[in-house]
Amino acid sequence: MKRFSRIFVVFFASIYSYGIFANLTSPEQYFPSYQADKHLRFDQIANYLNYVDKSTAKSKLIQFGWSEEGRPLYLLAVSSKKNIENLDEIRIRHEQLSNPYATRLNSHNLPVIVWLSFASHGDEPSGAHAAIKIIHYLLSNNQPEVNNWLNNSVLLFEVVANPDGFDQYANWVSGFYSDYPSSHAQHAKNTQKWPKSRGNHYWFDLNRDWLPQTQAESKARVLEYHKWKPNVLADFHEMQSNQSYFFQPGVKARINPLTPEQNIDLTKDLSNYTARAFDQASKLYYSEENFDDFYIGKGSTYPDLQGGLGILLEQAQSQGQQIQTQNGLLTFAQSVENQMTGITSMIRAANAKRKALIDFQQDFFRNNITLAQKDKVSGYLVQSQYDEHSLEQFLQLMSAHQIKVYPLEQDYQANDQLVFYKNTSYWIPLQQAQYRLIKSIFSRQTEFNDHTFYDVTNWNIALAYGLQHYSIEGRFFGVKAHEQPWDINRHAKTLQKTTNLTENAAGYLLDWRNGKNRFALSEILRNNIKVRVAKAQFKGVTPNGSKSFPAGSVLILRADNTKQAVTQFKNLVSQYNLRAHNLTTAHTPDGPDLGSDKVQLIELPKVATLAAPWVSQSEIGEFWYWLDKKIKLPLTMLADTRHTKWPLNDFTHLYLADGQYQNLTTQQIDQIKTWVDQGGTLIVTKRAAIWASQQQLIKNDYLSERDLSSPFKQNYDYANKESFYSEMRISGTVFKGAIDPTHPLGFGRTTPLVHLFRNDRVVLLETSTPFADVALYDNDPLTAGYVSPENINHIKNTVALTHHKVGSGRVIAFSDNPLFRGYWFDTAKMLTNSLFFAELID
Ligand SMILES: [Zn+2]
Repeated sequence: MKRFSRIFVVFFASIYSYGIFANLTSPEQYFPSYQADKHLRFDQIANYLNYVDKSTAKSKLIQFGWSEEGRPLYLLAVSSKKNIENLDEIRIRHEQLSNPYATRLNSHNLPVIVWLSFASHGDEPSGAHAAIKIIHYLLSNNQPEVNNWLNNSVLLFEVVANPDGFDQYANWVSGFYSDYPSSHAQHAKNTQKWPKSRGNHYWFDLNRDWLPQTQAESKARVLEYHKWKPNVLADFHEMQSNQSYFFQPGVKARINPLTPEQNIDLTKDLSNYTARAFDQASKLYYSEENFDDFYIGKGSTYPDLQGGLGILLEQAQSQGQQIQTQNGLLTFAQSVENQMTGITSMIRAANAKRKALIDFQQDFFRNNITLAQKDKVSGYLVQSQYDEHSLEQFLQLMSAHQIKVYPLEQDYQANDQLVFYKNTSYWIPLQQAQYRLIKSIFSRQTEFNDHTFYDVTNWNIALAYGLQHYSIEGRFFGVKAHEQPWDINRHAKTLQKTTNLTENAAGYLLDWRNGKNRFALSEILRNNIKVRVAKAQFKGVTPNGSKSFPAGSVLILRADNTKQAVTQFKNLVSQYNLRAHNLTTAHTPDGPDLGSDKVQLIELPKVATLAAPWVSQSEIGEFWYWLDKKIKLPLTMLADTRHTKWPLNDFTHLYLADGQYQNLTTQQIDQIKTWVDQGGTLIVTKRAAIWASQQQLIKNDYLSERDLSSPFKQNYDYANKESFYSEMRISGTVFKGAIDPTHPLGFGRTTPLVHLFRNDRVVLLETSTPFADVALYDNDPLTAGYVSPENINHIKNTVALTHHKVGSGRVIAFSDNPLFRGYWFDTAKMLTNSLFFAELID
């Protein structure tokens, strides 16, 4: 007995001295059927993270949200036992670094915070598999170097950033798992079935959503990100199989100009550690090529404007188990191993540069104040006089990005045409911690040193949301803004002004300029409430006197509706917190009376789209998201059935997103044409619009590939051929145009001005058909971002939106994607009108 207990004591003493959790089970032991080339599902990884969390005091699992499909979003903090015990305190102290007005901290004793993010693209799983192995390594190792890392850093592992896409991909490749796997590049597992798993539930690219934050995962992630503001965010991805391993810095000339020079130097310093690690392992890699650091909505760029370093690392894709590549056989096990090398090098580098990184972050926010003081612009005013929804969304987005926005307390006359009214306007001073982010969000830059862009060239949120905005040069005198910034918790109540609907009204009116009303119309129609739309402006009589209402106003009249329906409408008004006007009589002092045929009944749209593998999955996803989350309509996705007919007669609208419509069979084309002829509304965008022109469904001609290419002079050396293609491309640029607000597709707008986002070269030319072309690009259309002069010439004065009668139906064509990344509200209005108001066009 005595001997036994002595062994016991020795045993405990020895594991204590080596770290008490030396026996943490590895992923290889934890999963009974573990194979180095097998893909784990999300729930398996989640189980392992929970197991680690319970088994060691050197880690803490933080759940910061849920994916759209209800999978938990996790961060596993790994550090020393002492740091984990004091994690909140460390986090709060670290926050002080980003407060330019706080007392300066001595970096000597502060841990560096490193966020390691994996699988934001669901079909890039190697990083997540590497991460759990590294987690185990760090927590079961007692080497002095590892102990130093844990003592001096807090490592935040976001092992699976996109669990919905990740699981879909894991199930796909696991279905092909073989003892003797094929490595052939054409093996079916390498051509993912439709829909592919890169995006999240709605097929959104989460690595473009850091700025617009339309998706549940991004909202939760950016909120958590700001709690930590890591010194380094390393974002691990996968790229084409024939590549090797990439890590940033990317192309120097293509770094966002708001990124400070010192960030570039530190990134270079860190990359030396990764280079050395790959050299030591005799593995191929490259840097300073292909990828850039310009669009701030990416995981590797957003941190650059937060005093951190965003670093992109990319491993060549091995697809499922293995694949033959230009560099030989690439197995999943090798991919995972390369990612482990990348992860370890990042941890080593961040620890070595700990003090420099912390000091840099502290200086970054202080410098922002100095830069703001020197800036000739002191801030921006934004306003949305009629669209409460856009304004609320804008305020919430600014708050999510920690940008302080102040309600105006007085009206401000900016110029002859523009007044910012106190109740609908906000002031965003540049002199605040987020100076650089604000500059980026309101940028209207059109001149750039380098013309090659990996992603979009502008992302101005005020333009996207259709807000009036104005930059104030010099100090902002003469107007009082509220001392307290807008705060979602404090202001939520003041925004809720419920409408008092009177009993004896002749009807109720919803202003179509307000997005809240646009997003409730489906619910009203679905509840069998009869709805009319005024096709012309009129003066209505309200209990407070007569008032002008624009064309597009939505009317719920007593004469059309039963008592029950009116009660139902009142319930919806309070449920969705809508602002309805009471109209005391159907007789109007000016414009059509409410019983006129200019006030027309509308119906609930029944919408389908074509979901073929040759249609842009992300653009169908945007349409689906818009219908499901915004305007509350079901979407039927019709598959590309070659032999059976589509049930088109069950639908009022068919939406064709960008795609290769030459793939349609003659029978399919005839079916669509017949359906349109019999009254259907066909909505086409981008290359679907070109197809519609070829099929004579619209009368607009278009610029051919040859027309588009001919003005470009090929006066580049072969070595610089990429520059030639960059001039031809439109990577993502904002243009201005005009839409007729008296046309049903223009309803709900206060002025003709529209800001269009374009990332393709589909150019529709004007028709001679009167009133067919509803929106046109301006003669001088470039507003923000880069586009070559040749492309400006192509685009100016061409058609952005057109409408054509075909038999009893109609075709509505957009030259661009009106729902770009789910946040370009200014053009989304036109699409929403196409769904509800197409039948009003005569
Ligand atoms: Zn990726």
